[in-house]
Amino acid sequence: MRVIFIGPPGAGKGTQCKKLVDWLRVPQLSTGVLLRELVGQGTADAKCVGEHLNAGKLVPDHLVMGIVSKRLAEPDCVAGCLFDGFPRTLVQAQLLDEYLGRARQRIDLVLSLQVAEDKLVERLLKRASIENRSDDSSQTIVERLQVFRTQTSPLLDYYYRQGLLVVVDGERPEMEVFEEIKQTVALHASVGEPR
Ligand code: AMP
Repeated sequence: MRVIFIGPPGAGKGTQCKKLVDWLRVPQLSTGVLLRELVGQGTADAKCVGEHLNAGKLVPDHLVMGIVSKRLAEPDCVAGCLFDGFPRTLVQAQLLDEYLGRARQRIDLVLSLQVAEDKLVERLLKRASIENRSDDSSQTIVERLQVFRTQTSPLLDYYYRQGLLVVVDGERPEMEVFEEIKQTVALHASVGEPR
């Protein structure tokens, strides 16, 4: 089972993805987490990633795809995984399609978590004070929302055309959102069956 979560920063992708990991028992592949782990390793790539992250900009596609392919090649991803924050551009979506095509694997479902912008800003500022994430400052938040609108939202149409997209109202309480996600996932795949 391969599920992609698409949503602006603060929409609850990470939170919902973690819940689904426990339910489906496939790993979460969060590019945000993998990229933050890379920062501080002292390499040229790590420096590049750090600069993009702190500016709220997207890390170059080839670098992200390199990290994702490495992770997908690990044995625990064979039966599937949940993509949290990837792909974020049309180029990344195409690179992922090519990778999965070669591996004779496919995406089962794309969940679009939708939350109004004023609510997102509220949530992100709250997260900034709790988690102390360097990219949750008010200036970076504006940039990241803009990046989502221009670079990531075209993916919704891309996956809609493939019949994979399901829109979920992410403004409701966490558990209500999760119940809907579980029902949607159950409709799209036989839970527990490796693909
Ligand atoms: P996230 O934890 O998903 O909110 O991601 C945090 C930051 O990591 C983003 O603002 C980007 O700078 C970077 N990032 C995460 N995923 C990607 C991706 N798929 N492509 C490019 N940059 C990414």
